[in-house]
Amino acid sequence: MAPTPNWLRRRGARPEAASDALWDICPHCNERLYKKDLAELLWVCPKCGHNFRISALDRISLLADGDFREVAEDLMTGDPLQWTDRVSYVTKTAGDRTKSGLMEAILTGFCAIDGVAVGLGVMDFAFRGGTMGSVVGEKVTLLIEECGRRRLPAVVVCASGGARMEEGMVALMQMAKTSAAVARFAELGLPFITVLTDPTTGGVSASYGFQADVIIAESGAAIGFAGRRVIDQTIRQKLPDGFQSSEFLLEHGQVDMVVRRADLKPTLGRVLRFFAARLAAVPA
Ligand SMILES: [Zn+2]
Repeated sequence: MAPTPNWLRRRGARPEAASDALWDICPHCNERLYKKDLAELLWVCPKCGHNFRISALDRISLLADGDFREVAEDLMTGDPLQWTDRVSYVTKTAGDRTKSGLMEAILTGFCAIDGVAVGLGVMDFAFRGGTMGSVVGEKVTLLIEECGRRRLPAVVVCASGGARMEEGMVALMQMAKTSAAVARFAELGLPFITVLTDPTTGGVSASYGFQADVIIAESGAAIGFAGRRVIDQTIRQKLPDGFQSSEFLLEHGQVDMVVRRADLKPTLGRVLRFFAARLAAVPA
């Protein structure tokens, strides 16, 4: 197993493979898999090729060359609606912080990917289903703005169930806010790249997820706005097989490429170098 990267050590976190459970079951083919082997295989089932959902920490380890300098790491959500259903929103987010080791559903920072300096945001489905509330929206916006100041490309890896219900309108507003940040960034002529992973839905798909210059989908991911069942029941039509999969979206021109997890870093490197060569040729 690769040694724990320094940035992860500084964070006081352990790679997922070092956590307590030794085995995992593939949700697709039910194969029982040894976690340490799975980590070596980048959390891809060796039997059926299913991509396990991975934490933001594992994803950064997968993509960043060496160091990752996190920014806005202390931002913590408030409770704008004082929301309570079965449990209060405050209790839910506190539980997610403990469970995931994260302050929110996205980590943002700066690193190099395959030799190219970038701003990188990585969402984590384990924190409130990767939903976008005020803090996710703010962190995405801050990252994109800082990339603009540093004249760096921005990359965001999405994994999200959509807008965060418990923040209501404040969550929905983040769609407009992040979209505006992406539009301002585009005016600077800098590249914005998203990687849509399983699942990328709702408000994130309807804002920055699909607003990138290059949209990469990880293979086998579920990507869409509303869920299949909701659409089925609304339009009362049978939806085609593979609807809302990465591969279906590629066939229909909604994403630019579908990439296997193992190829993600070199592919991002290639795309980033393509833009870097053109940026170098044009004065800022
Ligand atoms: Zn499997």
